[in-house]
Amino acid sequence: MQRLFAAVLVGAAVFAGLPAQAQAPAQPPPFATTKVEGTDNVYIFRALGAQAMFVVTPEGVIATDPISYSRRDASTVYLQEIRKVTNAPVKYVVYSHHHYDHIAGGKPFKDAGAIFVSHQRAKERLQALDDPHTVIPDQTFKSLRTITLGGTTLELRYLGLNHSDSTIVMRLPKEKIVFAVDFISAGTMPGRGMIDSYPIEWEDSLKRLLAMDWDRLIPGHPGPGGRLGTKKDVQDYLALLQDASAEVKTLAREGKCWDTAEKEMKLEKWKSFPGFEAGLPFVARRYCGLWGRGT
Ligand SMILES: [Zn+2]
Repeated sequence: MQRLFAAVLVGAAVFAGLPAQAQAPAQPPPFATTKVEGTDNVYIFRALGAQAMFVVTPEGVIATDPISYSRRDASTVYLQEIRKVTNAPVKYVVYSHHHYDHIAGGKPFKDAGAIFVSHQRAKERLQALDDPHTVIPDQTFKSLRTITLGGTTLELRYLGLNHSDSTIVMRLPKEKIVFAVDFISAGTMPGRGMIDSYPIEWEDSLKRLLAMDWDRLIPGHPGPGGRLGTKKDVQDYLALLQDASAEVKTLAREGKCWDTAEKEMKLEKWKSFPGFEAGLPFVARRYCGLWGRGT
């Protein structure tokens, strides 16, 4: 008993002697702005777990996704962060797709005179959803639109159905950078992003992304350690979706969807992918919908 008491005391002394940050992992600040290495004018604004790209030119700024969802003040901070870099007007706000967790809260940009651009389907979705916190796009396109401003070219391209039916990829041809949201990650497991998705066409859109000319990917959610993505990440993500699809297809044809298949699905090869545990049920559910029911 005495020995146990002494051990507890020693334990308490060691614990009390630790600096505060060693007892609990330090939380990253809610907002962060970083310039993309090797570029003169490409920035990433992060608000909690979402991020957007903005491009600064002498004639104005091209911003993307307002990301005012978990934090309603994110777009106000976003605009302030742009103002720290330049006084040039924000000419455009481009939506990656129509989901609120990326595009809600554009009003400060609208008030500043920005033109909102999205895929045609995103506008149709947003008009039907009529969310009071989301700005309806001013301009739309169907397959390709190129924005040229102050010597910078930004290409907006629809790659087909994937994580949603309104997702586009944005490419800076000179910088060889793409900004792509939710249909690809920099090494993290898909999760809730499966809910609204088109799994068969998704694979084709990733193949189209691979065929495009770029070196670095800015994802809509930061990769592990905040790293950018590469084509290897796209290859991995495609392989993960293909493996998940094949595994559930077999289970579905044994009549195991929904519940049994969702319990039996292992996706063993991808166990070490960040976010695996949390993401797997969403992946299993979506592919059970596809192969078990045809939806
Ligand atoms: Zn989304």
